Amino acid sequence: MLKGKTAVITGAARGIGAQMARKFASLGANIAIVDYDNADEIKAELESTYSVNVAAFQCDVTNTDMCKSVCKEITDTLGKVDILVNNAGITRDNLIAMMEETEFDAVIGTNLKGTFNMIKALSRNFIRNKGGSIINISSVSGIMGLPGQANYSASKAGVIGLTKSLAKELGGKNIRVNAIAPGFIKTDMTKDLGSEDEFIKAIPLKRLGETEDVANLAAFLASDNSAYITGEVIRVDGGLAM
Ligand code: NDP
Repeated sequence: MLKGKTAVITGAARGIGAQMARKFASLGANIAIVDYDNADEIKAELESTYSVNVAAFQCDVTNTDMCKSVCKEITDTLGKVDILVNNAGITRDNLIAMMEETEFDAVIGTNLKGTFNMIKALSRNFIRNKGGSIINISSVSGIMGLPGQANYSASKAGVIGLTKSLAKELGGKNIRVNAIAPGFIKTDMTKDLGSEDEFIKAIPLKRLGETEDVANLAAFLASDNSAYITGEVIRVDGGLAM
């Protein structure tokens, strides 16, 4: 389904990003892992499991110049990029009266500006190639808002606006831009949120999501099976934000 395509996935050292890297590689895509952290472990796992090219790049997506130089390095190493997944994200939850400016700026910087930085850095690549699929990871928090997440909800709502605007701007160049809005997915990000049972009560499918649930949709949006879908925001949330 993705054979011969090259995918850049940010925040792919662990969690949802790592699972998307596994899924895309299993479908034949070459993978560029972009992460703050050292991604040697997932790189080695992909290389030993799948017959695809894998390269890892350390990059802070909040840093515009670093994104620019890493994206150049990626195209120099792996050739043209067909798929970009903007997955790197953080939370700094706090009630508004207590929320520090630094907490607001860090979340907007990573989740929203980081997404902008990576799309901008690869925009000429996509335009030159006359096509591509950009997938931005938003959140149900950006659709319905959640208390204690003013910064995070704002950043993820911003990602939805960015997605729709760019879908309109780039559609004529055969570049599709879609967003995924996960609900509660079992990763490091959600492990300290408290009792699972409380969340499960509010989820029609009565379970938390697995990283595979998100990766399966990402693979569809990355592939030509979704060739007529752009500007869409698709929830993977067990029905939570219905
Ligand atoms: P994790 O915290 O498990 O993983 C996030 C990854 O992003 C880490 O590898 C982290 O690196 C990396 N990262 C963080 N900041 C940067 C940065 N500035 N530059 C480069 N890489 C960075 O998160 P999840 O897998 O749970 O989440 C993935 C995405 O899905 C996020 O955008 C999140 O907001 C979204 N999401 C997650 C939900 C969930 O329930 N888990 C629900 C809804 C949305 P490091 O290890 O160095 O921190």
